[in-house]
Amino acid sequence: MKALSLQHVSHAYGRVLAVDDVSLEVEPGELVCLLGPSGCGKTTVLRVAAGLERLQQGHILLDGEVAADGKVSLPPERRSVGLVFQDYALFPHLCVLDNVLFGLSRVAAPERDTRAREALRQVGMADYATAFPHMLSGGQQQRVALARALAPQPRIMLLDEPFSGLDTALRNEVRDEALHILKSHGAATLMVTHDPEEAMFMADRIALMKDGRFAQVGTPTELYFQPQSAFAAAFFGDINRIEARVRKGKAITPLGEIAAEGFADDEAVEVLIRPEGLHLQSGLTAGEGARPMVEVMEARLLGRSSLIHLTARGNGADSRDLHLHARAPGHFLPAVQERLSVSLDPKQTFVFPLRTTT
Ligand code: ADP
Ligand code: MG
Repeated sequence: MKALSLQHVSHAYGRVLAVDDVSLEVEPGELVCLLGPSGCGKTTVLRVAAGLERLQQGHILLDGEVAADGKVSLPPERRSVGLVFQDYALFPHLCVLDNVLFGLSRVAAPERDTRAREALRQVGMADYATAFPHMLSGGQQQRVALARALAPQPRIMLLDEPFSGLDTALRNEVRDEALHILKSHGAATLMVTHDPEEAMFMADRIALMKDGRFAQVGTPTELYFQPQSAFAAAFFGDINRIEARVRKGKAITPLGEIAAEGFADDEAVEVLIRPEGLHLQSGLTAGEGARPMVEVMEARLLGRSSLIHLTARGNGADSRDLHLHARAPGHFLPAVQERLSVSLDPKQTFVFPLRTTT
């Protein structure tokens, strides 16, 4: 039985089609992230699932039970969903315990208090039961919001950019805590984020959205190493793009010939290479059959890795010079104008038809 099942859901605001025929299932205990650029429809999917927007098209099932279809539409309070929204703050006039009790209004009196305190214990906030929200840090408030949502044992947790109000250091900490709280609780979760790193940090699976549709759904590993479009490849961070033509199953580029199976001769393609997929070596001479050479423009230590800006000279097929970024682990700072040989990691190199999917 799926915790949540969205089947062919579409949603329009007037003439704006915000969600266009989206289907997704969340397994019990699974954490799925809805990832995509601002305005692509993530929040709308979540609001429709929660019942905060009336379903216009499709079916929504929670634990196998119809929550909304053409006939039925359960209100949010009858769907057993745990909401943590950006703007769904704690009640300022209620203490922490009362905030959590609020979510348990359907539970019988003697059990309510026990359940609320247990939820606070799970998020490490048991000692703050009588504190008021303004006395807590942003991270603590977010933990209480999680406890309030989890306490009624919802069928699914729906989180919309829950960490975006926190500054970077705190965000990393709260995100880490939230992951462990949700996982140890075994809660099925659908979480919205626009941050690919956050999605990879949190998710068992990612549904990548673009213009109201799912561009790709899969594990973080699948999305990162087997992107099905240039959009998916480029969404997970800085990427090098090279336009090229195909000859006999290979894209001809200034960085050499790159396997491009399934493309016709002379087809225009774009080759996408992640910065960490460019492997650089010094001290090799160019010659017949040697590796292509690039020239260092700038090199910067970023901390855990170094970023090297490179120029690759155009070849016969394309006389334009290429500007490339390479990322090397640790401290690797070649001198400006140094010439390096380059090889490509095929796992970090992707070929797509030119301009069909960006
Ligand atoms: P995301 O959460 O990915 O940023 P949203 O689901 O909030 O995207 O919005 C999807 C699209 O629907 C956007 O074009 C947005 O402007 C539009 N939209 C969202 N909410 C409303 C609304 N209440 N009324 C009209 N248009 C809306
Ligand atoms: Mg949103």
